[in-house]
Amino acid sequence: MNYKEKLKDQWWVDRSKEIKKRDHHTCQRCGTQTHLLNVHHKYYMPNTDPWDYPDEALITWCRKCHKEQTIYDILSELNSLFIERMLVYKTNINYKDVTTKSLQLKYNQLSNDIAKLREKLRKIEK
Ligand SMILES: [Zn+2]
Repeated sequence: MNYKEKLKDQWWVDRSKEIKKRDHHTCQRCGTQTHLLNVHHKYYMPNTDPWDYPDEALITWCRKCHKEQTIYDILSELNSLFIERMLVYKTNINYKDVTTKSLQLKYNQLSNDIAKLREKLRKIEK
């Protein structure tokens, strides 16, 4: 089962119902009760099923807030990647007489990550 499938699992359906009830079926970010509500993971842990998180890791948000936060998170990550790539680029220029193969690989890897995130962002913003 991949992550998306797990979010359709009965375990997650029940767990998210619990959290929505705890949060009085109210978005904990903007306070709305009229939008469709999602339960959001505040952080992710490796090898953990979505329903296996402690209460404090889960929070009820409306779809609009969830989307805004996801976009914000992606933009922050993109920003760090751009900075990292810029540093690799500068290092490459300063030491261009030495072997820069590994720097070139790193630069390409970062460019790949940036392209993937941009694609993710495009899909979300649709
Ligand atoms: Zn909201």
